[in-house]
Amino acid sequence: MSLIKAYAAQGPDTPLAPFQIDRRALRPKDIQLEILYCGVCHSDIHMVRNEWKQTIYPIVPGHEIVGRVTAVGDKVTKFRRGELAGVGVMVESCRECVNCKKGLEQYCKVGMVGTYSARDKNGDVTQGGYSKQIVVDENYVLRVSDKLPLAGVAPLLCAGITTYSPLRHWKVGKGDKLGVIGLGGLGHMAVKLAASFGAEVTMLSTSPTKEKDARRLGAQKFALTSDAAQLKGLAGYFDFIIDTVSAKHDYNLYLHLLDTDGVMICVGAPPTPAEVAVFSLIGGRRSLAGSGIGGIAETQEMLDYCAEHGITSDVEVIDIASINKAYERILKSDVRYRFVIDMASLT
Ligand code: NAP
Ligand code: ZN
Ligand code: ZN
Repeated sequence: MSLIKAYAAQGPDTPLAPFQIDRRALRPKDIQLEILYCGVCHSDIHMVRNEWKQTIYPIVPGHEIVGRVTAVGDKVTKFRRGELAGVGVMVESCRECVNCKKGLEQYCKVGMVGTYSARDKNGDVTQGGYSKQIVVDENYVLRVSDKLPLAGVAPLLCAGITTYSPLRHWKVGKGDKLGVIGLGGLGHMAVKLAASFGAEVTMLSTSPTKEKDARRLGAQKFALTSDAAQLKGLAGYFDFIIDTVSAKHDYNLYLHLLDTDGVMICVGAPPTPAEVAVFSLIGGRRSLAGSGIGGIAETQEMLDYCAEHGITSDVEVIDIASINKAYERILKSDVRYRFVIDMASLT
């Protein structure tokens, strides 16, 4: 075991602060990664503040990890020392259930092991990427291209795959009208990816100041969701809607924007339940669906697709000492469009 520098929260009301964690000694299939960048996902905030009621303290968040392989176990075949690699939202699953066998490890019947604040099969608590180093089994480590700016690749490990997976599952592409609710970390990746797949994208936002960026990212239309007239004009318009909103909001407002057989896919995970009027679904045979990150093979497919098409996240790189301020800005929807921590600042 080795002691590693990190940032942790000790409880739901305490800010993130310097902390030291243990990382396990390398097992035969383990990879040790020196973390270079780690993205800041809104899930980190939900978890640090125990909004989903599942946090184990102290918590070192961070599951958009890219870095360089510094050591490998003696049975590792996928990676060599010195290569770039990434770790996303999960670090283990049972590998045997029907979902794991299908490459849907995120829906493992036994339960996937999250990158932080989860218990692995030995009962040890995982700690995430706001740290200098991480040790992960090679099956859950992704190959990362050296052709893209690394800081912009980090958010692909969560924001990227979480939007790529449902777009692929529902085959969203040319000829489809897609609405994306919320222009934050997930939302801006949904816009970029869906536009690259050929869909017509409309940004549904609470922030009038984001219209220009939404269009630059690939949206053809922009609607301010606080303006009832703008939403009325979009009634029955969309084949698909991806909802990335992190806070409580009215799902019924958006369900009416779906065409017949339209699907609204929730990826945003507000802590409090919301009411859904069933008539919003019955009229027009609409579906309300959800989607969680993506499997390991699909995450690799997404990273390779992004490398091929030059797609990365729009990032604001920060020092780790600014992390608590960054959280406040995210909560004010003032993120353009993902904060990424430069881990060289953790000294
Ligand atoms: P984010 O960067 O904070 O973006 C969320 C965006 O939602 C905001 O920028 C804002 O966009 C909009 N918004 C915020 N509050 C709102 C409100 N009250 N009503 C309407 N719109 C509001 O967050 P993120 O990192 O993209 O994460 C979004 C959510 O997805 C979080 O709940 C996170 O936990 C969840 N998540 C889920 C998965 C999964 O596997 N399903 C994976 C990762 C994250 P505008 O300014 O454009 O309105
Ligand atoms: Zn995330
Ligand atoms: Zn499983």
